[in-house]
Amino acid sequence: MAEQKPISKSYLDLKSKVWDEGLCSGCGACIAVCPADALYFETGGDSTHPKSNNYCKAAVDDVSCGACYEVCPRLEEQPSSLLGDYLEITTGKAEFNIPKKQSGGAVTAILANALDTGLVDAVVTVTEDPWTLKPHSMVITKSEALIGQAGSRYNWWVPLVSSLKEAVVNRKYRNIAVVGVPCVVQAVRKMLETDHQLVGPYKKSIRFIMGLFCTESFDYEKLVAGKLKSEYALEPMKVCRIDVKGKLEITLNDGMQYVIPLTELEDTVRPGCSVCTDFTALEADISAGAVGSPDGYTTLVVRTLVGQHVLESAVANKKLSIGGEVDTGIIEKLAKKKLKRKPE
Ligand SMILES: Cc1cc2nc3c(=O)[nH]c(=O)nc-3n(C[C@H](O)[C@H](O)[C@H](O)COP(=O)(O)OP(=O)(O)OC[C@H]3O[C@@H](n4cnc5c(N)ncnc54)[C@H](O)[C@@H]3O)c2cc1C
Ligand code: SF4
Ligand code: SF4
Repeated sequence: MAEQKPISKSYLDLKSKVWDEGLCSGCGACIAVCPADALYFETGGDSTHPKSNNYCKAAVDDVSCGACYEVCPRLEEQPSSLLGDYLEITTGKAEFNIPKKQSGGAVTAILANALDTGLVDAVVTVTEDPWTLKPHSMVITKSEALIGQAGSRYNWWVPLVSSLKEAVVNRKYRNIAVVGVPCVVQAVRKMLETDHQLVGPYKKSIRFIMGLFCTESFDYEKLVAGKLKSEYALEPMKVCRIDVKGKLEITLNDGMQYVIPLTELEDTVRPGCSVCTDFTALEADISAGAVGSPDGYTTLVVRTLVGQHVLESAVANKKLSIGGEVDTGIIEKLAKKKLKRKPE
């Protein structure tokens, strides 16, 4: 009797277990690793999960694949740890001027130093169009460009890490750093830990994961195009800075400030965030956030030897200063609050 071929997973398994269950975070990892470019996010429309263009080789031609399934962070049980494992927690700030930095500019300082010293050759991050505030997944290879793109993007429609494919497959960088919120970090860690052959190029090329603390993210269309433009008559091009500190704070170019309570924004939060329990990017090499440090500083949770090496290089090159006390109690309090999203 002929031996039966094992049936590989396809996007249809992701669809039934993640997309249809409202669990998709929008991380974009499945889109990045799909060798057939069979998955995409629709611009402007319903962007709660990817869509298929029917080019999936596994579903259509029975070719063994399942790369998308292998890296999806939403197939794992959501974590229960508050701060996770770490070697050191400290505050940090950039030792040079970063006009658009969100907190202390430590994330930009660490990554700019890593590019300048050749520790990494590309950074996959999320930038934004200043006219529309629309975020983009981007590969950056020069520290000046990275410095120009400092600051947090709290809303998106994009598959966040989709440009990882451009970095790995098209441009063939082999020492890549990825910046991401916890769902992205979980997916990238899965890429580094899997033995799936089709994910191999990613595993070989990613060197460093910089995680960002995250409570939630907003849908671009609902927040910027909807709420801000229609209800508050705020033109995106006039916005100078957005901050989320228990409320949404918007500063315009002319200095005018708007504060919107988060309770007013509940319907603009991305649905996949409602099941996410990871606040501190537990799987990163270094995690960074605002909470726990004074204004003008970034909290840095150094988790791995790779993270420690990259951080120490930035300090040795006088790009970053570290050393202040961190209020870990307040971080744990917020992390505990996020844990309540874990399904019973
Ligand atoms: C959606 C979101 C929610 C957050 N929620 C919290 C929170 O609740 N509490 C808290 O303490 N901190 C939160 N942060 C982290 C905080 O906003 C800062 O990013 C962090 O303190 C680092 O500041 P920094 O000045 O060192 O970073 P910067 O030097 O300003 O550098 C930020 C870097 O992150 C990149 N980036 C920006 N947005 C994204 C994104 N969406 N995905 C991937 N990369 C991105 C930029 O391109 C830049 O390289 C959140 C960040 C995001 C993006
Ligand atoms: S969570 Fe990420 S990997 Fe999983 S289906 Fe959504 S976009 Fe794809
Ligand atoms: S809360 Fe943050 S980390 Fe979690 S799914 Fe939403 S964007 Fe991703």
